[in-house]
Amino acid sequence: MFKSVGWTWNPITGCTHDCKYCWAESLTRRWGKEFVPTFRVSYLNDQFPNDGTWIFVGSMGDLFCDGIKTEDIVKVLEKIKTAENNIFLLQTKNPSRFQELPIYRLLEELKDKIVLGTTLETNWDTSEFSKAPPPYDRAYSLINAKKMGFKTFLSLEPLSKFQSIYLKQWIMHIKPEAIEIGLENYTEFTTRPSDEDILDLLDALDRLRIPYILKENLDYLQPQATANSQQIRINPDPGKPADELEIAKSGNTRGMKE
Ligand code: SF4
Repeated sequence: MFKSVGWTWNPITGCTHDCKYCWAESLTRRWGKEFVPTFRVSYLNDQFPNDGTWIFVGSMGDLFCDGIKTEDIVKVLEKIKTAENNIFLLQTKNPSRFQELPIYRLLEELKDKIVLGTTLETNWDTSEFSKAPPPYDRAYSLINAKKMGFKTFLSLEPLSKFQSIYLKQWIMHIKPEAIEIGLENYTEFTTRPSDEDILDLLDALDRLRIPYILKENLDYLQPQATANSQQIRINPDPGKPADELEIAKSGNTRGMKE
């Protein structure tokens, strides 16, 4: 999970993308449950913290996977409308669904409260380890979202071997508020990129002035990255520079195991 997020909220669990490296699926199965898309209507009664915290929606599944009905996504977005002072990170490997009606209409209404995100493990085909739409399609949808005026976010996790020129171009057009970068943990379905390629990518992010967050398994590269790479704060308020903002530190996780 994105480590600058203070809360996770899981009104849905499960997913149809079948990523082989999925920790949420292995955790769910360890609990003796099936990892099938499930809408949890009782979560619509939750109270949000109303303190500016970023809330990650759906850390135990994918809200926009094809297994979740449009009407249930609408209910989740209607609930987000009631939040007064939080930013919601809506991250999916199926971002083409952002453009589906009536979802798009609601996202437009929520523009000031949401950040639209996707995961790009690489620019290459990912069908060997995931049934999610290909990275090119995900990037294209996020570029469109950016053009339509939405704030965007990228997760490069688990980062797999990539072609620098393409990945950098996509990132340049998506212009995310921040990027989270990590390697595969515990399993080995993706191909680890070289340290040189990762450092070259970090250097490009510095030059694009895109803040990034290295996950623990890349911490060892931090000293070699440039000084600007220390900038790991997220800017939910475009009126303030990122370095004036605090990272939410507490973790309140609703709906991990119920
Ligand atoms: S998209 Fe996310 S939740 Fe769905 S299978 Fe892949 S890693 Fe798991």
